[in-house]
Amino acid sequence: MSAQAEIGVIGGSGFYSFLDDVTEVAVETPYGAPSDSVFMGELGGRRVAFLPRHGRKHHLPPHRINYRANMWALSSVGVRQVLGPCAAGGLRPEYGPGTLLVPDQLVDRTKSRVQTYFDGEPLPDGSVPNVVHLTFADPYCATGRQASLAAAREHGWDAVDGGTLCVVEGPRFSTRAESRWHAAQGWSVVGMTGHPEAVLARELGVCYSSLALVTDLDAGAETGEGVSHEEVLRVFGQNVGRLRQVLFDAVAKLPEKRDCDCAQALGGIDPGIELPGALRDQRG
Ligand SMILES: [Zn+2]
Repeated sequence: MSAQAEIGVIGGSGFYSFLDDVTEVAVETPYGAPSDSVFMGELGGRRVAFLPRHGRKHHLPPHRINYRANMWALSSVGVRQVLGPCAAGGLRPEYGPGTLLVPDQLVDRTKSRVQTYFDGEPLPDGSVPNVVHLTFADPYCATGRQASLAAAREHGWDAVDGGTLCVVEGPRFSTRAESRWHAAQGWSVVGMTGHPEAVLARELGVCYSSLALVTDLDAGAETGEGVSHEEVLRVFGQNVGRLRQVLFDAVAKLPEKRDCDCAQALGGIDPGIELPGALRDQRG
């Protein structure tokens, strides 16, 4: 498939539904279908592909999302840089609802998710991926992080620069003991979808950074009844408008020619399979 987009945003219909001339494209991958079609639009002269992470009807819980298909689909339509906004719980009292945090680290506390393309399983075309151990010390693209932070500041949203996103399996929220333990480790926010998105992007040589919108204080950081689904939806709804503005401005700030190391993640290692995008044709 020829390149049709350069930047990907993984987020729901609240981010693209009002754009002019959105084209819906169904994409198949060797890992099955992504969460939904890819919705292509133009934003400030850049071609952007939106992918609803949970499906347009929000029917996929975090542990059932086909993360490999999602990232492969974005890469296969030409995407080289991805912004992955997500809802999160604050693990510190100062990170209350409405806080925007751009993490620089993550901790994987998921349990059931396949988090590599290089698992030795043959693809439908018969090719077999080699075993690859990827460097992942810094999980997020520094350029993408700075674009998001700058965009947030321009909108008067004093985003937290850095911190650790702890990704749990879900779909339940944490117990108080789990939450206190997460906080005691020095981690900042907790979410359910930021991983394995980050590592799969890295394997494909795609830039990835996250924006965590805090919708609640996690169970260990507050003294009330604990997090509720309704509370998360309400706070997300209150903030989705300005988060959209930040995302759109961040898109415009992403460089057309990448100056980061994300595209060279494999460092010349032969993956054994044909990757869909950035690594295959060695674009910048
Ligand atoms: Zn990058």
